[in-house]
Formats: sequence, C-alpha cells, structure tokens
Amino acid sequence: MSVVRDSIETPTAERLSALGITVLERGWLSSNNILLTGGHEAALIDTGYATHADLTVELVRQALGERPLARILNTHLHSDHCGGNAALKAAWPDSRIAIPPGLAHAVRTWDAVELSHAPTGQQCPRFAADELLTPGTPLNLGGLHWEVLAAQGHDPHAVILFQPTHRILVSADALWANGFGVVFPELEGESGFDEVRATLKLIESLNPDIVIPGHGSVFTGPAVREALRLAHSRLEQFETDPARHRRHALKVLIKFKLLEWQRCRLDTLTDWFLASDYFCRIARRDSAAPMQEVLDGLLSQLERSGALRRDDELVLNA
Ligand SMILES: [Zn+2]
Repeated sequence: MSVVRDSIETPTAERLSALGITVLERGWLSSNNILLTGGHEAALIDTGYATHADLTVELVRQALGERPLARILNTHLHSDHCGGNAALKAAWPDSRIAIPPGLAHAVRTWDAVELSHAPTGQQCPRFAADELLTPGTPLNLGGLHWEVLAAQGHDPHAVILFQPTHRILVSADALWANGFGVVFPELEGESGFDEVRATLKLIESLNPDIVIPGHGSVFTGPAVREALRLAHSRLEQFETDPARHRRHALKVLIKFKLLEWQRCRLDTLTDWFLASDYFCRIARRDSAAPMQEVLDGLLSQLERSGALRRDDELVLNA
C-alpha cells in the first residue's frame, strides 16, 4: 500500500522551489529569469529584454524581499537575455555579473555590432561584466553544484547549465519545448547546424529530468524526450532547406520588434528593416528582389500565420 505514496509525482514547481529555484516565466520578448536562493548568495540567470527591465527588477525584488541579489549570470548575450543586467545592477550595486567568455572583449568595449544588438535592430543598455562563466569550470549557485557547458549552434558563445544531482538543465535557447532559437551563424554562411546537433546530443547525454528553457514553460520527463525529437526534426528541415531557415529567422526578428513595439506604422517598420545591412545580407542570399518587396512578402506570411495584423497603415502585434 505504501507504493501509492511513492508514485505520486511532486509538481515540478514544488520540486524546484524545495531547491530554492524560482522560474519567472516571461514571454518571448524577455527570456525567462531563473532565481536561485538556496545558498548564501541569491543569483539570477538571464535578465530579459530592456523594455521589461523595470518589471524584471520588481519581480526579483518581490521574490527576494529584503535579501540582496548577489549574482547575475547570462547564458548568452542576446538582448532578450541580458537586457535587464544594467537595471538589476543599478538596483543591487554590489551584485556581480557573469558572462560566457566569448564576448568578454565586446562587452568591455561595448561593441554593439559584435554583440548582435545593432545588426538586429534591438536595444540593450550597456553593462560591465565582473566574472566569466567558463565552460568546464565548476559553478556553485544557490547552494547547488552546476556544470557550465558550451552550447554552440544558436549562438557560438552560449552556455547551458546542468545540475547533475537533480538532473536540472537550464537550456537557454538551445532547447525549447517546441524547438530552439534561430541558428544565427548559418544566416551569414557560417557553420551552425552541426553545432546545434552536437548540443542536442550533449543534452541527450545529460539525460535531464527537468528542463528550464530560455522561453516557455518548464518541461520534464517524457516532454524532454519529445522536445529533443522535435528539435532534431526541425534541424533536419532547416538543413534540407536553409532558405527556409533564413526566412524563418527574418520573420522571428520582425516579430521580436513587434513584440517590443506592439504596434507601429508600416513606414516605421519599413525604415527599421531597411536600415539593417544584416537583414539585407540575409535576404540577398535568396532573392534579388527589392528589399521592400522582401519585407512585404515576410509581413504577408506573418499575417497569414496570425503573428501580426495589418490595419491600413498600421502593423499590430497579434
Ligand atoms: Zn538567444
């Protein structure tokens, strides 16, 4: 009879909470924020997008109460994962910011092109890094031991974090329940798909029980296996048809801006799109059509999929 008790699944949030881990699930403009309070220093992994920074500070403050935030860590430096760094540092001046080593120099000199914020037309307030999150070095976070693992593909400098005792993976944009982030190196003709596969294999070998993704809800058990299956099949689709991946990427970047703006005039969106050499370079690989035409096509596809609405000269997030 006692077997019944053992077979009851504790809800995931409770399991995480017992370890001092709180996942602040955000939307797609801001990455999830993962708060670790189990140790003597409270730590936050990933900080969301700049326009949500005040809310991020407020959410963290509510969760921490009087306790200060001591550490801020970024899995990678895309604007939706480190856009709250500056505001959090201002709120807790003694906190230390840790970043993966690949872009340490770009952060030091604040090279907005190298950091990808300028080419993608995104914003990210400047911050300074105090520490490095180097793959292979042990990390003690929230009273737990974590492994820092390189996770190339979506971003060549990204890391994921794994807690082996409880088999918890902070997967960032390397694995979501329904895929993974745009494979940015491939957009400019560099290798990225092979690295995505290697990262998925690495995740398989870790055999995580709980995955805390960069976006979307936490998933566990069979859902992890399903996410990996889906990610492999998505990767194969992109490899077979790289132009499809490039179109997907441009649509993701437009949708991201619409999430930020919510609504804008079509000419404002057009000016924003045409101002980016980066978007032009990506589009030029598949089409010699004028960029205005390329943008119209992408907006039509986004409208058909329900990602935006158009009302006369207005473009609205949907
Ligand atoms: Zn990312």
